Amino acid sequence: MPEPKAPGCLFLESVNELLRETGQELELSTRYPGKHIIERLIIPDRVISFRISLQRDDGDIDVLMAYRVQSNNFRGPYKGGIRWHQDVDLDEVRALAGQMTLKCAVVGLPLGGAKGGVVLPPGADYSPAEKERLSRKYVDGLIHDLGPKKDIPAPDVNTNAQIMAWMADQYTKYRGESITAAFTGKPIELGGSQGRTEATGYGAMMVLARHAAAHKLDLQGKTLAVQGFGNVGSHAAVKAHTDLGLRVTHVANEYGCITRADGLDIPKLKAWVDEHGQKKLMDFPQAEPAREDVIAAPVDILFLAALENAVHAENAQSVRASLILEGANGPLTVEADHILGRREITVVPDILANAGGVVVSYFEMVQNENQDRWTQASVFDRLQDVMDQAYDATHQVALDRKVSLRKAAYLRAVDDIAFACHARGIQ
Ligand code: NAD
Repeated sequence: MPEPKAPGCLFLESVNELLRETGQELELSTRYPGKHIIERLIIPDRVISFRISLQRDDGDIDVLMAYRVQSNNFRGPYKGGIRWHQDVDLDEVRALAGQMTLKCAVVGLPLGGAKGGVVLPPGADYSPAEKERLSRKYVDGLIHDLGPKKDIPAPDVNTNAQIMAWMADQYTKYRGESITAAFTGKPIELGGSQGRTEATGYGAMMVLARHAAAHKLDLQGKTLAVQGFGNVGSHAAVKAHTDLGLRVTHVANEYGCITRADGLDIPKLKAWVDEHGQKKLMDFPQAEPAREDVIAAPVDILFLAALENAVHAENAQSVRASLILEGANGPLTVEADHILGRREITVVPDILANAGGVVVSYFEMVQNENQDRWTQASVFDRLQDVMDQAYDATHQVALDRKVSLRKAAYLRAVDDIAFACHARGIQ
């Protein structure tokens, strides 16, 4: 019997399958004969893998595998987050890097795509000092490959502004000059942008509001379930609760799912998790444990903000929401996407819905390069404009071609990348 495929491999295959389908629909081999554009998107520009020997506080060494995949830079320097997780593998990093290339094109940023990862030991609970050493070692391993005109990392799962600060500091030490734009998602005091922390979650809710307006859907009082209550999920839930009038009845993280029929008090829940940590989500006083898995929550809208492959062939039938928003990257397998499509459940895809983070990362680079500081209101206004335009353009392609929003987003992104590839010639 063949070995079951690793999640990262499934994710990579689904991204590549969509790319091939999109290439055929855009007739790239006729429009750009002999250019093999899809193959040049599927095979990354560079795959860097290296070992990190991390000294623990007790003197022991953890030997860790680390990656950076620079997927494509036809449209600009590589850009993408760094994930620290026990399930990181090279296929997953490749898939995520490829998605970054597409995402930057969907929102019209002059950037390409990359992604990084470090495979943590199962259950690793590193101290701040260990995290700092790991951050610095990661930069040591990539010192010739990073830079504001080359490849600009940002936070992703289990990495944050503090980790970007350590990485930026290490980079600065090597270069002998302060180059703040080499990393984004930094603390505000070190050149980070206002609004970067909230950007992905808020951006997703901006897209939801635009989608609702386009479909004459009144969001007031509609119910929302949120899977993943980290950076993306918690900020999205706050905006949904505070600005969009949604009733967030279910919130789940890796430790379980809590519910409250008349709506969770999301600002209080966020303050609770910020203070006590993810492990204590289930102890939030004003909620009860949900009977069903969050995927099957009886809600109008499901927001997926945890990890990839959360909805798959086995649980896609149990989805009760009529609209799914992908805050995470790749939260649906291809099979799940097909099942949900047949059930006429609308999916707003990751490369559109969660692009707010990279948009404000780009704003951070622009501010750094110009020694400028924008107010939070200005950042959110600009983010709103970019997300609205990206949604409208994608929605129009979906209407014109009678395809899903995911297919429409891929069609727009690949078309732009193909043009850039053609215009630049052979690289
Ligand atoms: P995070 O580490 O801050 O939070 C992850 C959350 O998911 C945590 O609440 C964790 O408990 C939960 N989780 C993990 N495994 C789970 C499981 N099996 N079931 C339910 N919940 C689970 O990460 P994040 O930055 O919020 O990223 C979440 C997703 O959004 C990832 O797919 C990431 O690639 C994507 N994303 C993040 C950003 C960003 O700016 N941070 C931007 C774009 C996309």
